[in-house]
Amino acid sequence: MRGNIISYMEMCQKEGASLQKGMNFRLKGKHSVILMSVRENSPYQDEITEDGTVLIYEGHDVPNTKDIVSPKLLDQPEFRESGSLNENGKFHKASQGYKNGIKGPDIVQVYEKIKKGIWSDNGYFHLVDSWIQKEEHRNVFKFKLVAVEGVTDETIPEDVTDRDVKRSRIIPASVKLEVWKRDKGKCITCGATDELHFDHILPYSKGGASLKSDNIQLLCARHNLQKSAKIQ
Ligand SMILES: [Zn+2]
Repeated sequence: MRGNIISYMEMCQKEGASLQKGMNFRLKGKHSVILMSVRENSPYQDEITEDGTVLIYEGHDVPNTKDIVSPKLLDQPEFRESGSLNENGKFHKASQGYKNGIKGPDIVQVYEKIKKGIWSDNGYFHLVDSWIQKEEHRNVFKFKLVAVEGVTDETIPEDVTDRDVKRSRIIPASVKLEVWKRDKGKCITCGATDELHFDHILPYSKGGASLKSDNIQLLCARHNLQKSAKIQ
């Protein structure tokens, strides 16, 4: 669920796979999974824009092997050595297919590293565009993903045909970190430290802000459920 805080192990359990790479196209033939980070020391330039509703995700470099001195000086590849598409290539092909009206959008589950050992479930996105961008020394892939509501684990990517989706919004990592520190990594109601969730005090759907820590608090799964039951 979007806004949940999870560990790396829980992430792998949820996806039924060992998530070694940042980009995983159609894991098990269903949705794709990407791992993002906007932390200063992260290797790629991922960016949240349009009020938290859009993720611009950077493609990945050539694998770091003994023969390659500096992957950061080389164009990001689209193909493997064998000539088949790599993850950049597969995501690129899927988003171009959507852009050109050939297919529905691929569904992508996004996880974000907040700090060591702490990940946030950023929920499901639609992969809607991609391009190759010229940087100082080389070309990199950029992928545009829109946070959407109403996608579940059972949604099959190819069955999504509606192009007018309800956008959702994610909380910026800087706000999440601030809230985590302020609430000391605990549910503010009972002090529980597991199954935590970044909760909008005034819900986003009712006009509550996502961009300021004043409107975000840590709640455990139980107190989050209790609160949403009250609101509805
Ligand atoms: Zn609680």
